[in-house]
Amino acid sequence: MKNLPMVDLNGQYTKIKEEIDNAMQEVVDSAYFVGGPAVGKFQNNLEKYLGVKHVIPCANGTDALTIAMMAAGLKPGDEVITANFTFVATAEAIAMLNLTPVLVDVYDDTFNIDVAAIENAITDKTKAIVPVHLFGQAANMEAIMKLAKKHDLFVIEDTAQAIGADYTFSDGSVAKAGTIGDIGTTSFFPSKNLGCFGDGGALFTNDDTLAAMIKKVVNHGMEKRYYHDMIGMNSRLDTLQAAVLDVKLNYLDSYCDARRDAADYYDNAFKDIEGLETPFRSPFSTHVFHQYTLKLGDGLDHFEMQDFLKENGVPGMIYYPVPLHLQKAYLDPRYKEGDFPVTEKLCSNVISLPMHTEHSEESLKYITEKVIAFVQSKN
Ligand SMILES: *Cc1c(COP(=O)(O)O)cnc(C)c1O
Repeated sequence: MKNLPMVDLNGQYTKIKEEIDNAMQEVVDSAYFVGGPAVGKFQNNLEKYLGVKHVIPCANGTDALTIAMMAAGLKPGDEVITANFTFVATAEAIAMLNLTPVLVDVYDDTFNIDVAAIENAITDKTKAIVPVHLFGQAANMEAIMKLAKKHDLFVIEDTAQAIGADYTFSDGSVAKAGTIGDIGTTSFFPSKNLGCFGDGGALFTNDDTLAAMIKKVVNHGMEKRYYHDMIGMNSRLDTLQAAVLDVKLNYLDSYCDARRDAADYYDNAFKDIEGLETPFRSPFSTHVFHQYTLKLGDGLDHFEMQDFLKENGVPGMIYYPVPLHLQKAYLDPRYKEGDFPVTEKLCSNVISLPMHTEHSEESLKYITEKVIAFVQSKN
């Protein structure tokens, strides 16, 4: 077995090719390439799926974060707290608006933002918290919302990796990740759990005023055509992408199940292997396994494992090799090496295995055998 994929978008498409092709053809025939009924239809269906009042589509997940912060009325110099262990887009959106990113450490088990660390980082300049639901599990939203309420902070959930995950509150009520804070954002990048055939993104909110503001921001700051109330941007979801997403949304739950099945296979294969720590399952969030991420024990090098797997036709990805505070673009005198022990350790010992909706038992068997062979070669 040679050259397995990290994600299998082709296999996924093949199964629903006719449905997708028809939806795309309808858009072409309608000649609505921007806006139009297909966008509205997807928007409504996603609102229903998420149980949220407003979904506002936009061009990508990075824009969604930027738009959320603009709609929240954040101003240069305002401090925004986010997790250090994340994809750069989260901090990038903050920095692009001349807001101050305040980085905090994450939990060693869930990889999600540490609530006590958030509390320690709050100053009188803090205006917002951006928890990231990393790798497919929701951050500790109940505690985060409580803290936000106490300090009057805005909460923007970066749900790019966790669309479809369910969060359970201590009273037993359940909400979709991304619908708990003031605004949720997501990305429809092809490899995300709900991916389109190019770039796409969206914002979610239950607040009518914020929804109106977001709609204004994505459309050049205008409500009435050619009357511009504020400086906005141009950020739209292409109609073709909306048509693709509307078809794939019907399969999202089954895609999440397929990912969980693959994760169960991995967990089971690795459970007795010393040196491999399988992903922790949070008690308050379902896991939609955007990534299946192992932590390697001392003496096992993740880059070495990555090379070994590659030689055997198995891709492994290191999300993320460098914490934000040690990235060249984000170096800041406020931070130095050693300030974020958990994030720094994770950046040195995690590796993510192929994760998608189209795994065969044969490919999972092969991947797990190669991972175990690497570990055993080091004993
Ligand atoms: C992918 C991703 C984004 C950015 O999404 P794009 O659509 O690529 O701009 C933001 N945050 C996180 C956590 C992501 O994984």
